Amino acid sequence: MTDTITKADMTTPNNIEKTATDKPSAEKNGNAAGQSWFNRPIPGIKQQLTAPLTAVETEPSTKCSNCHSMITNTALIFNCYVCPHCDHHLPMSARERLNWLLDQVDGEMGQEFNAKDPLSFVDSKPYPQRMSEAQDKTGESEALIVMYGKLRNLDIVTCAFDFRFMGGSMGSVVGDRFVQAAEKALEEKIPLVCFAASGGARMQEGLLSLMQMARTAAAIERLRLAGVPYIVVLTNPVYGGVTASLAMLGDIHLAEPKAMIGFAGKRVIEQTVRETLEEPFQRAEFLLEHGVVDEVVHRHQLIDTIYRLLAKLCHVTNVDA
Ligand SMILES: [Zn+2]
Repeated sequence: MTDTITKADMTTPNNIEKTATDKPSAEKNGNAAGQSWFNRPIPGIKQQLTAPLTAVETEPSTKCSNCHSMITNTALIFNCYVCPHCDHHLPMSARERLNWLLDQVDGEMGQEFNAKDPLSFVDSKPYPQRMSEAQDKTGESEALIVMYGKLRNLDIVTCAFDFRFMGGSMGSVVGDRFVQAAEKALEEKIPLVCFAASGGARMQEGLLSLMQMARTAAAIERLRLAGVPYIVVLTNPVYGGVTASLAMLGDIHLAEPKAMIGFAGKRVIEQTVRETLEEPFQRAEFLLEHGVVDEVVHRHQLIDTIYRLLAKLCHVTNVDA
């Protein structure tokens, strides 16, 4: 008796039953124990068809934009939004970023500022409509979130750009919130940490948006004169007016691996200089080599690195290891 199942065996239930009863030893060995003839594996038929669904197929998942593997959202959150397969750093929302950084959140600032539409700006949509769509999409009122609280034993003020909110663009409210954060840091002589992720100035606010570059730069200068540390973490991507102001004026510039950082986009520069710019142009590692960034830090080491730097800059003696 061979294990081969003939076509007649597969099409005639009587024959299959007969075949099954002809093999009592196989059932005793556990190969087909507890399986009806319908579930019994048949050579040549793919087993995946009857395999139970994996966690990825049943849980809400996200596709890695680099290696395209599916990762459950739970696994992603536990891994700080770093792909466990290829180590790609996926985007984090501003609120998640700040809650992740701070051990204790004492409060949030800048909620009282609301964007106006002074130019009555309309492109394909009116500016107020774009704003309300961004608010519905993100659940945030603006592109910059500011919180203060404790990072281990240090009091800090920290802010983060939400790139999902109109590309993290810097309008007047973003400027207001950043300046307010810097003033609190100055008043209380506690460090300011900024996570930058932005496409640049917000064109819908025209000149008012560009003015925020000068306002934020002036606020940072006041911090510098008072000896209050200001650390910038450049996350993917940082461009335009934000690069040209608050993102490049830190005492220390950290960057996440492979973050795109620049002023104008790569394509615009290629068209201007008429040259092809190869990878890793504008990547964090390229900027590290050229002295723009002080250190490229993996997200898993980021909190520890920020804390150690701030403890050093604030002359903290009881370092919380
Ligand atoms: Zn991946």
